[in-house]
Amino acid sequence: MRPKVGTFAHKTGDLAEMVCSNSFRSDDDERNAVGLLHWEMRAAGSLVLEMAGRHRLPAGGALAVDREAFSRDVTAAIRANPLISVVEGEIASLPEDGTWIVATGPLTSGSLAESIRVATGAESLAFFDAIAPIVHAETIDMDVAWRQSRYDKGETEEERTAYINCPMTREQYEAFIDALLAADKTEFHEGETAGYFDGCLPIEVMAERGRETLRFGPMKPVGLTNAHARDVKPYAVVQLRRDNALGTLYNIVGFQTKMKYGAQTAVFRTIPGLESASFARLGGIHRNTFINSPTLLDDRMRLKLRPNLRFAGQITGVEGYVESAAMGMLAGRLAAAEIRGEALPPVPTTTAVGALLSHITVGADAKTFQPMNVNFGLFPPLPEARGGRRGRTDRYKGYTDRAKGDWTAWLSGQASAQAAE
Ligand SMILES: Cc1cc2nc3c(=O)[nH]c(=O)nc-3n(C[C@H](O)[C@H](O)[C@H](O)COP(=O)(O)OP(=O)(O)OC[C@H]3O[C@@H](n4cnc5c(N)ncnc54)[C@H](O)[C@@H]3O)c2cc1C
Repeated sequence: MRPKVGTFAHKTGDLAEMVCSNSFRSDDDERNAVGLLHWEMRAAGSLVLEMAGRHRLPAGGALAVDREAFSRDVTAAIRANPLISVVEGEIASLPEDGTWIVATGPLTSGSLAESIRVATGAESLAFFDAIAPIVHAETIDMDVAWRQSRYDKGETEEERTAYINCPMTREQYEAFIDALLAADKTEFHEGETAGYFDGCLPIEVMAERGRETLRFGPMKPVGLTNAHARDVKPYAVVQLRRDNALGTLYNIVGFQTKMKYGAQTAVFRTIPGLESASFARLGGIHRNTFINSPTLLDDRMRLKLRPNLRFAGQITGVEGYVESAAMGMLAGRLAAAEIRGEALPPVPTTTAVGALLSHITVGADAKTFQPMNVNFGLFPPLPEARGGRRGRTDRYKGYTDRAKGDWTAWLSGQASAQAAE
């Protein structure tokens, strides 16, 4: 719709505008999940990755780009493609018929958002994310933390032990509150807060409202018994809840925050049991329109209610430039295969693209669904897993080797389906 209709974040009328950072993050395709995603996108001929490579700037191991030249050349390539017509203008409602991919991003215009909400239900569309930090389960110290649901609620043993609990003494709690209050925070952008509501208050704002607020909120210690010290009543408890079907990721319940990333890592590692935590993603609160993909989309990214509509990009509940572009690339391939009548095998969940797709469509808990970055916690575990930091780095290489083989095979399967057509 740009430049005819703008947003608070975009400045130009060009396609692929990078609204904030000019980095596509790590380019390490051996030991980093987003680097692996770069690799898979390059292998699939991604225009975004091709242009990022052309306009790369020195940035250590990261893939940073000259944003203006990058965006200008993506736009030029799209406009020069004889099979693509670019039509500028806002689409105010979901189209009734024809094959469509809706990729209107975190700042989807109000009228289209309303149309999506009407089609999918009020609970299915969010206008802000409220992301609590997510921890790799294997990095939680279970000699300190224990598994238990509050008041042991639940029908099955799995439900009664669904949460991981980290206990705090009074001194630890007081020090934690001091650290929260002192931490560096990010501010909302101008124009970003319209529609922001009290239900997703950052923890530091809760702490500002009173030193005891958290102890009567997300950190209340009631209904929980420390399995390592049954006679000692914790003064406060931090709870982590399983975040994916694989059980490899846990989110810190109620800990959405606008603390800066460095401050988050420092503050959250003061929590007993999380001293060595590795974070799959850190917390945040942003203006972000996204649908509840686990309930709404099928495994081919189609709206179950109206399969002629696909969703792609950040509106599906992935987070970040690279993840969004990857989900756009995949939606395009899935739509093209469908139109051409090709039988495309499912995307292997062992690949970065497949792990993301699987997370948003089936792996994530629909009730607590929040946008997700690609990370190794989304991948099916490797059979022979060794513990510790060294074991983890070896494992990452194992994940990327497996992914590259499976992605190459999937792409060549698609190529042979086209040849057979
Ligand atoms: C303020 C802000 C800062 C961000 N910073 C970063 C960052 O530093 N790093 C990072 O990785 N990610 C960042 N993101 C996330 C980033 O925007 C997305 O990851 C990525 O751009 C999403 O890609 P997309 O193609 O899904 O959507 P977009 O890139 O937003 O593209 C969607 C396009 O659709 C247009 N559109 C919306 N509604 C309509 C309509 N009704 N009709 C027609 N067109 C419409 C929009 O104007 C936009 O041009 C940020 C997001 C925001 C809002």
